[in-house]
Amino acid sequence: MTERFKKVRVEFENVSLAYGKTRVLTDVSIAIEPGEFFALLGPSGSGKSTLLRLLAGFLQPQAGAIRVAGEDVTRVPPWERDIGMVFQNYALWPHMTVRQNVAFGLEERRLPRAEVERRAAAALELVGLGEFGARRPGQLSGGQQQRVAVARTIAIEPKVLLLDEPLSNLDAKLRIHMRVELLALQRKLGITTIFVTHDQEEALSIADRVAVLDQGVIQQVGTPVELYDTPANRFIAHFVGTINFLRGTLETSGTRTVFRSEALGEIAMAGVAASAGPAEIAIRPHAMQLAAPGKPLDGGRTWLDGTVTEREFLGEFVRYNVKIGAADLVVDQPHYMGEPGFAPGARVRVGINPAQVKVLKAAAEREA
Ligand code: ADP
Repeated sequence: MTERFKKVRVEFENVSLAYGKTRVLTDVSIAIEPGEFFALLGPSGSGKSTLLRLLAGFLQPQAGAIRVAGEDVTRVPPWERDIGMVFQNYALWPHMTVRQNVAFGLEERRLPRAEVERRAAAALELVGLGEFGARRPGQLSGGQQQRVAVARTIAIEPKVLLLDEPLSNLDAKLRIHMRVELLALQRKLGITTIFVTHDQEEALSIADRVAVLDQGVIQQVGTPVELYDTPANRFIAHFVGTINFLRGTLETSGTRTVFRSEALGEIAMAGVAASAGPAEIAIRPHAMQLAAPGKPLDGGRTWLDGTVTEREFLGEFVRYNVKIGAADLVVDQPHYMGEPGFAPGARVRVGINPAQVKVLKAAAEREA
């Protein structure tokens, strides 16, 4: 089965779609590489499912083109596109057995009986459900039902696999387990896969690359690390992970650059390409260090005096809210056994590592 999957490229080119005056997608261009595990990430209503439906052929755009393996499929009906889609609710037939569910799409394609049996068995084997063919979906766990839905889709050997929030009906632990499984299966098959999710952690953890959508507009396309470390704008910086923003001014003298803000005073910067003038900086919560007053300080950091206002124990780390002048910063610190950390009201020093401060592009022109 494995070698039947040809890796194909999928392209959205300047795709736009509106319902009446409501613009759902505006000038969306994405090129998904052959064999890629690609995530469409965005808040609810940002247009992710609409993009999947356009690719599957259930909808047509008002402008732009969609290409699969180089072929323009924009006006091709769904049944001629060879796109496999796994729906959020799995859409299994409750009265059919698992094997019948998986065989259904093959029978519809009028394949010979033996071929239907062979492919259904192979698909169930691939998702680890070889023994479960005689059960009904109601006799399976949520994770197993999800695997049946995947098996049913890959049995038809589509060119592209689409997954619409496939893990959202599973509990947190199973979700993490299933995303590892899905990725392993995708790697085994090599099939170009597009995955829709509103969960940034999910997207970052399994996708080769991610396109982030907001209100029907692509905000950034990149690898998880690119999105996290070099967010294209404030929306990305905020949506992908937790982050602190500060407005102020970049000042340069010779080789030294500082960021000055009313709230915090002066922070030394490192390797900043941005020119002097109004700017906004972004700092991840874990990129700062907390120290008790009087403790020896690392000279490579800018240290600011503050007060802990909130403390949230999250197991692996502790999330603090620290007030420094007029600014409130979120600061994460690792938690180690026997270390009490800081209580609300405690005076602390916050160390900022200049190498971990990001100057946001074009941030200065925007207003919050
Ligand atoms: P997502 O998958 O990111 O949650 P969708 O693609 O489902 O977003 O929807 C994008 C937007 O399109 C939403 O604002 C939604 O209300 C709107 N929308 C979807 N279908 C229709 C429709 N048939 N008529 C009008 N608006 C629609």
